[in-house]
Amino acid sequence: MNFSAVVVAAGSSTRAGPGAPKPWRSLGGRPILRWSVEALSRAGAREIIVVTAPERTADADEALAGLASWKAVPGGVTRAESVQAGLAALSTPDEEAVLVHDAARPFVTSAHVQSLLVALAEAEGAVPALPVADTLKRGVDIVAETVSRNGLWRAQTPQAFRLRTLRQAYGAWPADAEPTDDAAVVERAGGKVALVPGDPLLMKLTYPEDFAMAEQLAGGRRIVRTGFGVDAHRWGPGEAVWLCGVKIDHDQTLVGHSDADAGLHALTDAILGAIGEGDIGEHFPPTDPQWKGASSDRFLVHAAKLVAAKGGSLLNVDVTLICERPKIRPHRDAMRARLAELLALPLDRVSVKATTTEGMGFTGRGEGLMAQAVATVETPA
Ligand code: MG
Repeated sequence: MNFSAVVVAAGSSTRAGPGAPKPWRSLGGRPILRWSVEALSRAGAREIIVVTAPERTADADEALAGLASWKAVPGGVTRAESVQAGLAALSTPDEEAVLVHDAARPFVTSAHVQSLLVALAEAEGAVPALPVADTLKRGVDIVAETVSRNGLWRAQTPQAFRLRTLRQAYGAWPADAEPTDDAAVVERAGGKVALVPGDPLLMKLTYPEDFAMAEQLAGGRRIVRTGFGVDAHRWGPGEAVWLCGVKIDHDQTLVGHSDADAGLHALTDAILGAIGEGDIGEHFPPTDPQWKGASSDRFLVHAAKLVAAKGGSLLNVDVTLICERPKIRPHRDAMRARLAELLALPLDRVSVKATTTEGMGFTGRGEGLMAQAVATVETPA
């Protein structure tokens, strides 16, 4: 089912202690707002409206840089006004689904979204909810009564609705009342709202101590991926060769469309492989004249930027050059330093090795040089 999303980030966060309002605080190195928008985008949202405090719409450009299909709009005084501002900004057709989500619940996943959309097929709304586990008391200072928790649920977000249903329900909501969630608005209008299993990870970051716990969880919400790359170029007449971004005087050169730096090409492919972004030929077609004689530095830097655009970071890279000549060892430290510089990595996370094939094969016969590379990347789950 096609869906769009409204992410509400307009609250003042008075309970969260001093500092910027919640959506703009950092969690695992990214603004909290970015976690939700990235997750909803990965889950397939066609359009995401981010509702911010009026003075903060410009901050969204920085917090969400590099992400597609989102728009920031100013919110209102109350949450209900903010949600309605978000709904008004959607260009989604009325018969499609909309998810309304609190920016302060950063750990939403594609699986959460899918279970809501499935439930929406049979209802006008669907909310993730957890059964109440603690005993409930009513009273002020002294317990007046113990309230049965039987059949009671804690509603979370995102909450999913038919867009038309939610718009009409808000249209009928009394101006002097303030709903605490969107399902309540649809319920009042007589809409059927399904309960789907909630998740403790959909917790709302509210109090200062919540942020410390979320920071711990944020570390576990990332996965490690590995990519592998291979490249080979033929030897031809020349006076120097580029390998791993370093120019080495030699009695031959490697022949290729660009500078033929097989080390950088293999490593670029390894990084692209780790993030599932195809190969170097797709990003820099050899048929494109602009890459003729190009320094391969830019290919590598481009791959590293794609990692960053996914909210990821490179952990380490390892390149092996396979040739009989030139001798690589005297240049190895310079190659490592150059790769570390291009990738902004500490030196001990960059490895360059070399081997011969003892005279065997095309590398052994001196027809060409081969490079192999592995890159390890950490990205959001
Ligand atoms: Mg190549």
